[in-house]
Amino acid sequence: MARYTGPVCRLCRREKMKLFLKGAKCDTAKCPVERRPYPPGEHGRDRMRQGSEYMAQLREKQKARRTYGVLETQFANLYRDANRSSAITGEELLRMLELRLDNVAYRAAWSSSRAQARQLVQHGHVRVNGRRVTIPSYRVRKNDHITLSDAAREMIVVRHNLDTLDRPARPWLEVDEDRFGVKVISLPLREHIDVQVREQLVVELYSK
Ligand code: SF4
Repeated sequence: MARYTGPVCRLCRREKMKLFLKGAKCDTAKCPVERRPYPPGEHGRDRMRQGSEYMAQLREKQKARRTYGVLETQFANLYRDANRSSAITGEELLRMLELRLDNVAYRAAWSSSRAQARQLVQHGHVRVNGRRVTIPSYRVRKNDHITLSDAAREMIVVRHNLDTLDRPARPWLEVDEDRFGVKVISLPLREHIDVQVREQLVVELYSK
């Protein structure tokens, strides 16, 4: 399964905002967006000026794609599925991204970043309704119960994340008492998704 393996802080700097791709470092003063709030590269500062309409649309698409760690083709396929649905296309696109299994593991505070959540899934530590699922892009459905494997429950990193991460509760996820499981009690609405993306611009970009 292909994924982006380059330096991730550059991606945040290119979008001129924190995408929270690195876990603990993102909330510290070491975050490069705090120290160098302009795009990377020799001409980074020159790229601070207001761009064209197309550039604004492109940047919103890249922001959404990079936040969830999705590659170009996969993102285009998601947009196609969202466009076919009867719901509002932009909202449906974000909902589909939010329902990815790796994102649910991230929202459950089992991992400090979506990349770490992705690894948990790929290594077979996440169960959907008791069944091992190793596909990070797997889309969970309403009433699915997502749990951690027994081995993962003992992992220091998982326990540390659960104890230290201050993730706000998601209204669409019900957390088990032991915090090693979550149930999808409803599909997320736009106001439940705190990703700062203007999805309408993404729709405009793909509608050209
Ligand atoms: Fe982005 Fe986190 Fe790197 Fe800051 S530390 S630039 S938020 S990935």
